[in-house]
Amino acid sequence: MKDDDAAQAGTGGQAGAGSRRGLEVRDVVVLYRDDDGTTKAAVDGLDLDVAPGEVLALLGPSGSGKSSLLRAVAGLEPVAAGSITWDGTDLAGVPVHQRGIGLMFQDGQLFPHRDVAANVAFGLQMQRVPRAELARRVAELLRLVGLAGFGDRDVASLSGGERQRVALARSLAPRPRLLLLDEPLSALDRALRERLADDVRAALRATGTTALFVTHDHDEAFAVADRIAVMDLGRLLQVDPPARLWHRPTSQRVAEFLGYEAFVPAASPTGRALLDLVGKQGELLALGPGSLTRDQGPTTAPGPARSTAVPSPALTGTVVTAGFRRGVVELVVDVDGVGRVTLVEPSAGTHLDAPAPGTVVTLHARPEAIAVVGG
Ligand code: ADP
Repeated sequence: MKDDDAAQAGTGGQAGAGSRRGLEVRDVVVLYRDDDGTTKAAVDGLDLDVAPGEVLALLGPSGSGKSSLLRAVAGLEPVAAGSITWDGTDLAGVPVHQRGIGLMFQDGQLFPHRDVAANVAFGLQMQRVPRAELARRVAELLRLVGLAGFGDRDVASLSGGERQRVALARSLAPRPRLLLLDEPLSALDRALRERLADDVRAALRATGTTALFVTHDHDEAFAVADRIAVMDLGRLLQVDPPARLWHRPTSQRVAEFLGYEAFVPAASPTGRALLDLVGKQGELLALGPGSLTRDQGPTTAPGPARSTAVPSPALTGTVVTAGFRRGVVELVVDVDGVGRVTLVEPSAGTHLDAPAPGTVVTLHARPEAIAVVGG
């Protein structure tokens, strides 16, 4: 069996009980040699902590070095400099299958000739878990991943989502002290991915598993993680819990990567007005989807006038596109002095009741949805 097969099946699993410091990555460098002999740092002096029981998402564009870091932690890639420790014990020189680390990949790489139960049981068999205990644990894990009763199924008969659920159960079965997940949902379609992201989180939570979850999809990172580490060019740009990361991106690069669409310098007239509105200090404002609302015209409703408690600067813009998306209407509007921002509006009926491209609209800002970069 290859080293990474052993790690995926979690044959080196150990109980996480007694863990105190978890994973500590210090100043780690991973180098690759190109064909012309030059070396390139895929991971470039990186520090990262994952606390016991924590789920940390490593989020970054393709090629930013996420997999290289994950493979270095697993022991599948040599570390050129720095250290990787678990509870203070250096993992250098510890073979892959003795690290107590589980691995799960985009393609779960199930054993094709074993049924579902036997796939999940694999790591437990390697640990010589007694038969009755093994059967009980396999049933418990299949229940945990939403596949109760699937034990006898041939893995070839499973859907993509079901296969990844089996892979998750298999990697959790030996209770790895750390589970490394490398883009485990990227091969699935969006709706399935969203549901499975919630289920993966629930399974990691229920088992108290410490996990490092690599993804290039910010929605997935937000759904799964306790904290998110944003990676670019082999380094970490910011590490924070999801809400803090979203509301306080430390740089424009981080904000762009999280899905913020438009950036307004605080020194511009629009920027000054927006900064007053959000009531913060800073030099750059970031606007994401839903940060602006359309002025739907004067209200004719009887009774007190609609609240204007927050003085919102009126912005104008031109509708670029309008489309129906999963129960809402999304308008992309080119906002004067701001740039393109997506508006998200409730969809009232069966037809698209949005303004046509080219329509000039008046907009208001939603202060709670605007971030001050570095603020
Ligand atoms: P990510 O997981 O974020 O997509 P990777 O860790 O796979 O990033 O890759 C980081 C960088 O290292 C990329 O530029 C990639 O081309 C390069 N790289 C990855 N694996 C190898 C390899 N085996 N040989 C040479 N270069 C590699």
